[in-house]
Amino acid sequence: MKLALPILLCGAILSAQGQIRVMLLDGEQGGPYHAWQETTPYLKKMLEETGKFRVDVVTAPPAGGDFSKFMPQFKKYKVVVGNYDAPDERWSADLKAAFEKYISEGGGFVSVHAADNAFPQWKAYNLMIGIGGWRGRDEKSGPYWYFKDGKFQSDNSPGRAGSHGARLPFEIVHRVTDHPITKGLPEKWMHVADELYANLRGPGDRMNVLATAFSAPSNRGTNRDEPILMALTYGKGRIFHTTLGHDIAALNSVGFIVTYQRGTEWAATGKVKQKIPPDFPGADAPKTRPEYNPPAGWTSPGGGPRRGPGGPPRKQP
Ligand code: ZN
Repeated sequence: MKLALPILLCGAILSAQGQIRVMLLDGEQGGPYHAWQETTPYLKKMLEETGKFRVDVVTAPPAGGDFSKFMPQFKKYKVVVGNYDAPDERWSADLKAAFEKYISEGGGFVSVHAADNAFPQWKAYNLMIGIGGWRGRDEKSGPYWYFKDGKFQSDNSPGRAGSHGARLPFEIVHRVTDHPITKGLPEKWMHVADELYANLRGPGDRMNVLATAFSAPSNRGTNRDEPILMALTYGKGRIFHTTLGHDIAALNSVGFIVTYQRGTEWAATGKVKQKIPPDFPGADAPKTRPEYNPPAGWTSPGGGPRRGPGGPPRKQP
């Protein structure tokens, strides 16, 4: 007779090989310009190639779909990666409560790019991500947060939340260099062409801004250093928030890949044991990896060609 495995002793949140179990949540991204069907396989591969993670993709029903049976088993996982952007009404109060309980009891969450557009009125979610944009966010959502004159500051002036210019390469500057996620990495590095999120607003509570990028007025920016990588806590849970990663071309950035891998490990365990790879970029030029090159003929979904500075404002996140 085969004995049933003692599930509690095995630890359901580690795989049989001792890997960290990850739920990669997708299924909706607010519009056609964020192709979760394309980005999810990249985000999954990036974690699994470290050997530290085992990733299950959980796809939520689409807008108008049947949510009556959608109750992900958060507790099976050490960390949930959000590649998901939906409006407040999409999730039931029960589903939101289950997620809040999971994080407050020590679960991890990673918010990738437009996941910080999701759920503008859900108070706990906005405490988890610290800041967000679009979907009607304004001064009622919390202050703007940014670095200016060498200081991290909040700004209660009225206005909409969320903006970005054309997708161009930009420099990331680490503001905290002794956090497990950033420790040992170059303090300045170049990211590939991507949306530089700006004018994000939110409670900013228990938010440690690890890295910023300068939002250049020449590219419809704010003339401020905008938060890019953040570490937060919610109850006993840890949250890593990266605003990077608009499309698969933007994901093919060694700086993105490594901070995402490290941030996910930190959100899951509070520590980072990964080594820093030799191809991590410096301040001179971004680095990419051939295995993440977009397929031949690929174009960015819904976004058309990259618009240069001075083009029409983009409403999409
Ligand atoms: Zn985007």
